[in-house]
Amino acid sequence: MAYRIETKCIHGEEKVEKAHSFGAVSVPIYQTATFAHPGVGSSTGFDYSRESNPTRAELERIVSSLEGAADTVACTTGMAAIALCLELLEEGSHIVCTDDLYGGSVRLFTELGKKRGLSFSYVDTSDAALVEKSICQNTKALYIETPSNPTMKVTDLRAMKKLADQKGLLLIVDNTFLTPYFQNPLALGADLVVHSGTKFLGGHNDTLAGFLCTSRKDLAEKIRFLYKTVGCCLSPFDSFLLIRGIKTLSVRLEKQQSNALGLAKWLKQQEKVRQVYYVGLEEHPGHAVNRTQASGYGSMISFRVDSPQTAVNLLERIQLISYAESLGGTESLLTYPMLQTHGDVPIDVREKLGITDTFLRLSVGIENIEDLKQDLAQALA
Ligand SMILES: *Cc1c(COP(=O)(O)O)cnc(C)c1O
Repeated sequence: MAYRIETKCIHGEEKVEKAHSFGAVSVPIYQTATFAHPGVGSSTGFDYSRESNPTRAELERIVSSLEGAADTVACTTGMAAIALCLELLEEGSHIVCTDDLYGGSVRLFTELGKKRGLSFSYVDTSDAALVEKSICQNTKALYIETPSNPTMKVTDLRAMKKLADQKGLLLIVDNTFLTPYFQNPLALGADLVVHSGTKFLGGHNDTLAGFLCTSRKDLAEKIRFLYKTVGCCLSPFDSFLLIRGIKTLSVRLEKQQSNALGLAKWLKQQEKVRQVYYVGLEEHPGHAVNRTQASGYGSMISFRVDSPQTAVNLLERIQLISYAESLGGTESLLTYPMLQTHGDVPIDVREKLGITDTFLRLSVGIENIEDLKQDLAQALA
């Protein structure tokens, strides 16, 4: 029997607890570096924890099941997973990326990617014609974030798949913002999905993690080789925290999304708020496309206020919501992308994207929405 997504968050494709020692319902934390061999030339299936570990393997099984992946590797951070993904590309490759990527990805691409002989074009991938124009002789991949970070542009994944097929490109999607609960890029034809597991999947702002998932067996083999070679593997304890976090992914996301929709509508009515960017609002330019490829809108809102002073006041006066980087957890966080997540993005690029001193990003948690409104209202007053 094929399980539905909420069940998969807890059990993956099948319930395997009978395999755990003593029938433990929660997977044990196998805090061990190495595994004794039963005899010469034989193995328990685990040899050394850099390569694989039973707790981490359980986590990878569940994420593979959620994403519909042939294989998933669990990494120390989202950036480690993205860096591993870049290792799949030959020297001289050109990559077309979404223009408002996560700032850390831009830093990795410009600083380290360049050293490896990779080049990048940043385009508004919500416009498929622009993407097609940016593809050149040595283009090897499309690297997409949808909705994008932080301006919430939506890219048509089916259109990207069509281009990727025509030109023989890898389609890579950072699925951090919607998670497999709302969006399955591999099912739409992507070759690779990356995640910051630190965000919604972990979900509690208490640890860092990353995932690289693939639908292709040939890529899975290459990734496993790179993974054990580079050694960016998630620890057994952090793997346990991620397994625990993912169990409640469906209930958290439903609550976060309904809070986000309520707050987006409320923010629109506030005198000092000039513009609200939330994919769940019908007037959002990406709303219709998002509907065709995802089952939800997530809980990330960006908004513009009337002056830099209002932005600073908000950040300094909020009491329930924290002024902090990161997103996706149970706690609501307010971010100043210009100084924080996108601080390393060149100023001209940032200004062009609209990431200015009046632009804020809100990750909506699972608190009571009236308490969140009250906090924002007193900070905006
Ligand atoms: C946070 C984030 C990353 C990086 O993940 P870390 O776990 O912080 O290394 C990558 N992509 C997106 C969209 C993110 O939000």
